[in-house]
Amino acid sequence: MPIPGHVDPVPVPRAITPREDGRVDLVGLSREQIRAELATAGLDEKQAKLRAKQLFHWLYHRGETDFEKMTDLAKPMRGWLAERFIVGRPDVVEAQISSDGTRKWLLRSDDGQDYEMVFIPDADRGTLCVSSQVGCTLNCRFCHTGTMRLVRNLTPGEIVGQVMLARDALGEWPKGSMAGFGDADEAEDDDAPQYTTDGRLLTNIVMMGMGEPLYNFENVRDALKVVMDGDGLALSKRRITLSTSGVVPMMARAGQEIGVNLAVSLHAVNKEVRDEIVPLNRKFGLEELLQACADYPGANNARRITFEYVMLKDKNDSDEDARELVRLMRHYRLPAKINLIPFNPWPGAPYECSTPERIKRFSNIVFEAGISAPVRTPRGRDIMAACGQLKSASEKKSRAELDRLAAEKQAALG
Ligand code: SAH
Ligand code: SF4
Repeated sequence: MPIPGHVDPVPVPRAITPREDGRVDLVGLSREQIRAELATAGLDEKQAKLRAKQLFHWLYHRGETDFEKMTDLAKPMRGWLAERFIVGRPDVVEAQISSDGTRKWLLRSDDGQDYEMVFIPDADRGTLCVSSQVGCTLNCRFCHTGTMRLVRNLTPGEIVGQVMLARDALGEWPKGSMAGFGDADEAEDDDAPQYTTDGRLLTNIVMMGMGEPLYNFENVRDALKVVMDGDGLALSKRRITLSTSGVVPMMARAGQEIGVNLAVSLHAVNKEVRDEIVPLNRKFGLEELLQACADYPGANNARRITFEYVMLKDKNDSDEDARELVRLMRHYRLPAKINLIPFNPWPGAPYECSTPERIKRFSNIVFEAGISAPVRTPRGRDIMAACGQLKSASEKKSRAELDRLAAEKQAALG
């Protein structure tokens, strides 16, 4: 079996390509990229810069998709934009709600790739679990996503698009006047109510959906930069967590260039077991991984690294495993929080979940050593939305079949 683990093994589909109708989707673009697109389309430099700033705010702060409603743009400009650009959203193939309130959306890209996002409401927060790839190359043995055959990196637009769609679905875009922003003297609609930004449902983002975010580093970075921009969606880096299965060479860059909270899918404390359940360990071993965690920029006692640990019956759940986990955390002096995840089953999975007593005991050993070790309550299991259960139907089509469909589509377009 080939050992997975090239740093970027997945083709990036495209940077900015027009859609079939020739228009460019602005979602996912930075202010600078929007400016460049406007300049290429013919606006002079000053105009391009000013309009880019306005568009950025309308897109990401207000969630507006209709140029006609962008009231501080002159009317002819709105028409000009609509001929050349769109503000898109991923297509929703299916939306489901779990009995515990967790929501899952199956989304489809322009080229027919399916991926999922999950929203997990809690009393004090709402967390959106965002995908970074269609499928995953890494084949962790306990993970459903890892069994998907097709993999492609999601573009920044598709990553940001998930957050935009969630805001749409939760009805969370601020309403009201744009007075005071940009060239407000052009504004035509001033009687709308003032917008408010508090009381949000979507407060946190975790890059824990399908895919390995550090195998799609640049797109994930660019997308999160847009999501964190104070003039737009404005989510704080402290409310965003990126989870990696251990792509060591990219971890320092993630800290420097993105700066969000880090979660690491540890899942085992020795080479033998980790090699088996997280095959990437054969490429980047435990010592290297834990050292990269110790070196992660910005990690300290106030901003701990989360170590995810899936509880697999008779595989990684003994008292000895718990004690070894504590030893490793101490040895590398890691500001750590251990997140114990009861294994979420899926059809054909080769493991079982540890018993509740075993999980409790494991948690206690870690906790008594002074390290926080909460057990994650499974959410959305009934709609297969829990950790490691995501797997879209797109894998049912082979690569050849997809190529054939793409060719047919092309032919149909003439
Ligand atoms: N690829 C990244 C991001 C996915 S995050 C990563 O692996 O870190 C999803 C989390 O759920 C990871 O910690 C993953 O290891 C864990 N997970 C995968 N399958 C699971 C399952 N069946 N039950 C519980 N957790 C699982
Ligand atoms: Fe990929 Fe993460 Fe699943 Fe492993 S656990 S197969 S890295 S999505």
